[in-house]
Order: sequence, then C-alpha cells, then structure tokens
Amino acid sequence: MIRLESYLAGRWQSGDGAGATLADPTTGEALAAASSDGLDLAGALDFARAKGAALRAMTFAERGAMIEAIARALKAQRASYVDIAVANSGNTQTDAAIDIDGGIGTLLYFAKLGKTLGDARIMRDGAPQRLARDENFQGLHLLVPRRGVAVHINAFNFPSWGLWEKAGVALLAGMPVLAKPAVSTVWLAQKMVADVVAAGAVPDGALSILCGSPGDLLDHLGWQDVVSFTGSAATALKLRASPKVLAHSVPLNVEADSLNGMVLGPDIAAGSLEFETFVKDVARELTVKAGQRCTAVRRIFVPASVADALSDALAARLAGVTVGNPRSEGVRMGPVVSKAQQAAALAGIAELKRDAKLLCGGTAGTGLVDADAASGAFIAPTLFRAEAAAARVHELEVFAPVATLIPYDTEDALFALAAKGGGSLVLSALSGDIQFLQRLAIELAHAHGRLMAIDPSVAASQTGHGNVLPSCIHGGPGRAGGGEELGALRGLKFYQQRSAIQASAATLSGLCEAAAPLTL
Ligand code: NAP
Repeated sequence: MIRLESYLAGRWQSGDGAGATLADPTTGEALAAASSDGLDLAGALDFARAKGAALRAMTFAERGAMIEAIARALKAQRASYVDIAVANSGNTQTDAAIDIDGGIGTLLYFAKLGKTLGDARIMRDGAPQRLARDENFQGLHLLVPRRGVAVHINAFNFPSWGLWEKAGVALLAGMPVLAKPAVSTVWLAQKMVADVVAAGAVPDGALSILCGSPGDLLDHLGWQDVVSFTGSAATALKLRASPKVLAHSVPLNVEADSLNGMVLGPDIAAGSLEFETFVKDVARELTVKAGQRCTAVRRIFVPASVADALSDALAARLAGVTVGNPRSEGVRMGPVVSKAQQAAALAGIAELKRDAKLLCGGTAGTGLVDADAASGAFIAPTLFRAEAAAARVHELEVFAPVATLIPYDTEDALFALAAKGGGSLVLSALSGDIQFLQRLAIELAHAHGRLMAIDPSVAASQTGHGNVLPSCIHGGPGRAGGGEELGALRGLKFYQQRSAIQASAATLSGLCEAAAPLTL
C-alpha cells in the first residue's frame, strides 16, 4: 500500500503510526495510507512564513508565470491523475475531467490575470482623494500581501480543483500556501503537489501539503495568517471557535453546505423543448460526481401545473442512469466517495422520507454494472417530491445524487420557498420571460452567491448550473458559509491587507505608480 508523505518545511515527511486508509469506493480495496501524527506543524508554518518574502518580491507578472508553470507541470501528468481520481474518488472520466481540468483551467486564468497586472507587486483600491482644505494632503487605499501563511482546508469531493482554485489566488496575491486536503481523497492532491515540486515550478516554501489529520495545525496560527475552509457546517463551526482564530482575528473564509435550487419558469409548458431541456439539465446536475458537488441541485422548483409531468419525466430519466464501476463502458455514475459518505447519505434519505415522497432511488443501488453493492459505496439517483409546507427539504443537504421536487403556485410563493434554503451557493432558472428572470434576480440575490437566469438567447451558450467560473465569485450567505472565493481580482482581497495611506500628493503619486489598479 502506498504511504503518502506530507511536504512541509521544504521536505517530504511521513507521520507516525498507521494513519488513515484511503480506499477505492467502487471495490472497497485499500489503496494508500496517510498519517500526520508527530509532524512539526508549527515549524512547517514558520518555514512557509519566512519564505513568503520571496513571493512578495516577485511582480504580479512573475507570479503569473509561476502559476502558469504549475499548470504546465500538471498538464504533463494528467493521465496519471485520471487513474487516481477513478480509483480513489470513484470518478467517471467526465467527473475526473471536471476536477482535474477545472483545477488547471483556474490556474491558467489566474496566470493570465498576473500577466495583465504586470510589474507591480501591490495593488491600489481607487485613486488618491483630497482629505483636507490643503489639496496636497490626500489619501490612497493600498492592498499589500499579508505576511503569513494561507492555510487551505479542503473537502473530499474536489481534491484537484479545491486545491488549485484556492492556491492560484493566494500565490498571485503573494502568500505562501499550506494545503490540508480531506484525507479520504488526498492521494490526487499529494501527487499533483509532488509533480509541481519536482518540476521546480514554485520557490521554496511557497507550497506545502499536509496529508493526514489536521492535528494541532490551528493552534499555531498567527495574526498574519488566513484560513480558507471548504467542508461541512459542523467543522466550520469548530474552526470559527478555534482559540487562535478568535485571539488573532485570523480571516476565515467558509464554503459549507448548500441547498441549491433549479427553477422551471411559470411560462414553460409540459412537453415543450424547454421542459425537456430542464429535465436533462436537472438529471445531469444531480448525477455528475454522484451528486457530490457543492453546487449540485438539491431543490427543484416547478409550477404546480406541470409538477406531475415533470415528476414522471425526471424519475424516468434518473431511473435510466447506468450506475456502477466507473472503469466500465457505458457507466454514467460511479459511487459516492466512501462507505462513510454512503451511510451519511442513506441516513439523510431516511430523514427526508419523513416529509417528502420518494419518487425513485433511495437505495444503495440495484442493477450495478461490474460492481457489488456490498463492497461499493453506491447510492441510486434519488428523487423526492415535497409540498410547500415541508421543512426538512430546506434544511438538510444530502451530499449524494439526491434532490427534491417542490411545486409552486405563484411567483411570490416561489421566491419565499427558494429563500427558505437559508443561504445557498447557486440558483438557476429557465424561462422565456425576461421580466420574470429580472424579478427573480432582484428577489433572490440576497440569498445566493450566484444566480443563473437563462432565457432562450443564452440557452446554448450558458456554462451550466453547477460550474464555478474563476471570473465570478463562488460562495454564499448563511448556511453556505458566508464566504466568497474567486471572482477574478476580487478573490485576491482575502490574502491582502487594505491600508489607507494619508500623505502628500507627491508621496502618493509614487505609490500609485508602484501599485496595479484594482479595476473590477
Ligand atoms: P468535513 O468533514 O467538514 O471536512 C472538511 C475538511 O476539514 C477536511 O480536510 C477535514 O480533514 C478538515 N477537518 C475536519 N475537522 C477539522 C478540524 N477540527 N480542524 C481542522 N480541519 C478539520 O467535510 P467533508 O465531509 O470533507 O465535506 C463534505 C461537505 O463539504 C459537504 O457537506 C458539502 O456541502 C461541503 N462542501 C462545500 C463546498 C463549497 O464550496 N461550499 C464544496 C465542497 C463541499 P479530514 O479529512 O482529515 O477529516
């Protein structure tokens, strides 16, 4: 069995003891082990902090070139990543591509942004403003990199994209990164970091990875460090209450659970082309990565007049999805990532049954292709139907191919129901009525980090409900964690300190020349 080492303080190190076992969720076979027991995490953070100066000395263009070199190193090894994603995450080829190519694409986006920012090392927010009667006394807001470590704690579902969508932004801002991926799927992230280090793509200390449990990592945070977390709301609560985070006001970004919605507009008739498109889109969003995307659809809002027709069409389509070994021809959906996740999903399904009607699925999978239900971690594509009064469907995220269809009578009822999710990452709507889509955007933006309002003119060109784009923000209020990542240059702010410099026009003019404008 492979033993996965951590890369800390500029060297590969193995923790003590057996550590956690990484398994193949299709077969149950043990693949690798990782332990962080006994590793010097305080020393690892100190080392990265000390080496951060080299990153801050680089211009944005140089940091962009470094990020491009990371992407090149990863592209060269892509085939080996797909094999790991299939084995350790139960990914189909499409699932693996979303994670791996999504990560590389995001890096290339930020590499290009770096080039655009040019020779500056810092940024400015706005232009100098006069502060007093004397015109010569002015103020300018500078954005400079924080002088600590960007600690990135990630969820199991995107070992590649989760790593690089955070690291690309932090490195461009000028902060060294210590990544702590979820241990159950850390193999892919570890292999990627090993390839980047071997290619010499990053300076010493710019990129570290901790393979294993977080140990006492958070006990060594300092006031210039930041933490960006993706995972469950329960872990997020622990991080928010962590003594060093509280004592040092360590910035903490949280991406957590989300009850994302897809809306069929009131103008769409049963059997129409748009109706059929919606059925296809919902089925795809539900089954990609076996429903383990933070942006996967959990609530499907449809006009009451077409609810029966939609229930039938969607249940029939989901029942036709081929589930099984992702290595086998024709398999459209693999297992969830582990037996523990399967158990959590089945418990969630049992909970949803208490106030929603099961239309299809709900089991650990039957008719599996080249796979055994007992050893694999399968969940059949599962659709519920709930009435507007049901409460659990707006509170419980089942992180698997599980969603609930909810009929609505009026536009106002729809807006109230969608907001019941208590804050989500994304809501998408399909309608031919632009005024309806505009009202929906205004009424529901407060509850969503991202809204997709699709009318026929963008039906063919839209990028998909679940796809996170580096140019748009990713995050959401309330239950979704209250965080915000990506969004082009907006994402850099988390890794920078904004400081108001009050000085003479001549002093500020020199600073202005040295700083790239934060033009959004
Ligand atoms: P999790 O159990 O909260 O774990 C997330 C990460 O936190 C893992 O790396 C985990 O390490 C680490 N962790 C656990 N306890 C910790 C502690 N006390 N201190 C520091 N780190 C700690 O979540 P998960 O089960 O991996 O992820 C599933 C959840 O993530 C889902 O509910 C989903 O909604 C959410 N998610 C959200 C997004 C988003 O962008 N909003 C994206 C993906 C997933 P170990 O693996 O070593 O335990």
